[in-house]
Amino acid sequence: MTTGRRSAGLSGVRNRLSGVRIDLHTHSTASDGTLSPSAVIEAAADSRLDVIGLTDHDSAAGWAQAADAAAANGIMLVPGMEVSTKHAGAGVHLLAYLADPAYPFLDEELALILQGREARLAAVLEKLRDAGIDITEDEVRRQADPSPAIGRPHIADVLVAKGVVGDRSEAFDRLLDSGQRGYVERYAAPTAAMIRLVTQAGGAAVIAHPWGRGSRRVLDLATLTGLREAGLVGLEVDHQDHSREDRGTLRGMAAELDLVVTGASDFHGDGKVDHELGCNLTAPAELERLLAAAAANAAASGRGVPEVVRP
Ligand code: AMP
Ligand code: ZN
Ligand code: FE
Ligand code: FE
Repeated sequence: MTTGRRSAGLSGVRNRLSGVRIDLHTHSTASDGTLSPSAVIEAAADSRLDVIGLTDHDSAAGWAQAADAAAANGIMLVPGMEVSTKHAGAGVHLLAYLADPAYPFLDEELALILQGREARLAAVLEKLRDAGIDITEDEVRRQADPSPAIGRPHIADVLVAKGVVGDRSEAFDRLLDSGQRGYVERYAAPTAAMIRLVTQAGGAAVIAHPWGRGSRRVLDLATLTGLREAGLVGLEVDHQDHSREDRGTLRGMAAELDLVVTGASDFHGDGKVDHELGCNLTAPAELERLLAAAAANAAASGRGVPEVVRP
């Protein structure tokens, strides 16, 4: 999947189908989704998607399996990651498409983020113990396997299995969300610095659910203008966290800043309700712009970079 030139363009896909269905943000068991990478691709085929972005948290571990499945199912795969960053004290999720995860400075930051997840795990379990809930690191690690990124959803799944809560949402609401008894902060890279790294690594950076819970209060037009200067390529406007009104406002801001507009499900298998594959889509022309930006960054980087898998 690496090296060589990237040809932008969806012409192959477009010739095959009139309505191209593109979903650019999904999770597998390579992070906190509940389906394996190949099962995500198969589910995408069942949902009549033509293009899928696999964007596990802070890791490219699912790409190889997803690429094989995409080739077998005639689906176009855009490899990506959803990287944890922080701006002005608020969590900002950054979708990094087609960046080379082996680019040394990016690789180092990803390692720091994964270490931060490890350190947080022990701290959360201690807080839960103080609250009278006893689960072990081993149990969470077994639940998270094979994900390199240990997340709160994996802790939630152990709490569900033990009957402490009914589902992931209840685990977040009662224990794991910011402000609850089991909440612990973790390391995240500064947003602008991560955008620069993704760009230098030959990728294209898009802010995930910009007005979702964490980041709403910090991402105004002035901030987005600054992030655009750092290399930001797009905004994920169509996401379940955004009301119709928010989507309209964000679309206007994207137009003003000449940012690509994406839409996606943020699918997590059974791990998140109301995030079914294809529930939000990206327009083909916007994907063309995203791929063109990635191709330009790849050329400037002079590196062998990840490739889109074409049907
Ligand atoms: P973490 O990566 O450990 O900080 O956990 C954040 C992840 O948990 C998000 O990316 C979502 O996938 C998931 N998440 C956040 N809130 C909820 C919720 N209320 N119910 C289910 N999953 C959630
Ligand atoms: Zn997630
Ligand atoms: Fe997110
Ligand atoms: Fe996500």
